[in-house]
Amino acid sequence: MEIPFAESFKIKMIEPLHRSTREERESWIKESKYNLFNLRSDQVFIDLLTDSGTGAMSDRQWAAMMLGDESYAGSSSYFNMKKAIHDILGFDYFLPTHQGRAAENVLFSVLVKSGDVVPGNSHFDTTKGHIEFRHATAIDCTINEANDTQIEHPFKGNVDIDKLETVLKTHPKEKIPFICLTVTCNTSGGQPVSMQNIKEIHALAKKYDIPILFDSARFAENAYFIKKREKGYEEKSIKEIVREMFQYADMMTMSSKKDAIVNIGGFIAFRDEKLFREATTFNIMFEGYITYGGLSGRDMNALAVGLDEGTEFDYLDTRIRQVAYLGAKLDEYGIVYQRPTGGHAVFIDALKTLPNVPREEFPAQTLGVELYLESGIRGVEIGAILADRDPVTRENRYPKLELLRLAIPRRAYTNNHIDVIAASLKNVYDRRNSICRGFKIVREAPIMRHFTIELERL
Ligand SMILES: *Cc1c(COP(=O)(O)O)cnc(C)c1O
Repeated sequence: MEIPFAESFKIKMIEPLHRSTREERESWIKESKYNLFNLRSDQVFIDLLTDSGTGAMSDRQWAAMMLGDESYAGSSSYFNMKKAIHDILGFDYFLPTHQGRAAENVLFSVLVKSGDVVPGNSHFDTTKGHIEFRHATAIDCTINEANDTQIEHPFKGNVDIDKLETVLKTHPKEKIPFICLTVTCNTSGGQPVSMQNIKEIHALAKKYDIPILFDSARFAENAYFIKKREKGYEEKSIKEIVREMFQYADMMTMSSKKDAIVNIGGFIAFRDEKLFREATTFNIMFEGYITYGGLSGRDMNALAVGLDEGTEFDYLDTRIRQVAYLGAKLDEYGIVYQRPTGGHAVFIDALKTLPNVPREEFPAQTLGVELYLESGIRGVEIGAILADRDPVTRENRYPKLELLRLAIPRRAYTNNHIDVIAASLKNVYDRRNSICRGFKIVREAPIMRHFTIELERL
């Protein structure tokens, strides 16, 4: 008999989960104004809101925490992080920040000016927020295949080279501070970018003399997909692939809460010393001194170890297979999601799952609420609510896809939890014909409204 796959770790510490009744969930979600962010974590059974900062650290990471050096300047933890970034990613200069968006805030304070355009694959919401906040425009050049959830494309995070070249051709060089490449591309479904595509983007960037920024939250998952799906990389280690990927980047921002498997942390890395010096001033203003940037020494130590563990094949294989396992269950039940499954999450196609809910009533949010009511599972809407209003017309923006993202925290849940998630979705899907109405907005913030939005049932 063939030996089945099993996780590459065992469990050393546990945290109890809370079950609840449907009546309790009905009242909690109503009190939360139908915004899943407003739920208390103990009102949630399986929390798939995000894979950001929600992973389980290893024994090595916890041991490193105890060795954290809390010196204000020049702590050994800073140098541990510097060494990990140098050895694994190949950058000489870096600034620690408290998380990914802080890295964006600091770097974009130097680079992004009013009237600029920033082309790339689908920009992450905080990235786009930091661009638009500076009255610049993010231009999405992702391949069209990414907008059809049913096309099986191995690299749906890829940039359409023609779309990118059009942007580079039609805007003056001074108006394009950088190309922003998100690996993996969270917004298009945790979908990877191929090495081939990275090379083509790099060639184009060279031709037009525009630097490339990697938004790198899930760079290791991207490398795993290159190993698994791209010819010529089957025999390479994840660390070799990572080094090759980053050869093509001029700088990177990182939310370490993802592939560095820590609960908080981020950084910016640079090749250019001058840019590093300019960003340093903003880092000191916004984040903290150069050698801690909003992190404690123990955070930096755990991050350094996490970069190493996060780029090991066995860890990534366990993680990404678990996400694929959820996808396979959903296939069994006929539930439509962005294919193939991404690195960190399954993105359910809400328009196909709840076909009777009008777009103006937010089908993905409706699906998220229904799934919560079913069994206490919390996902997150990646649809019209997240897309915010157009900054000029103030009209709702309706993205091509309305998705419910179920993000799988790293090393936190077992496949039994995955079975519960799939069965719960099936139950919602089975009663889809009776779900015809969604929600209307009663309160929203002018930007990044999804975090604090308040809704009313229609
Ligand atoms: C999470 C994330 C960010 C922002 O990082 P935070 O740590 O949440 O501030 C930026 N880009 C991508 C692609 C992300 O996934």
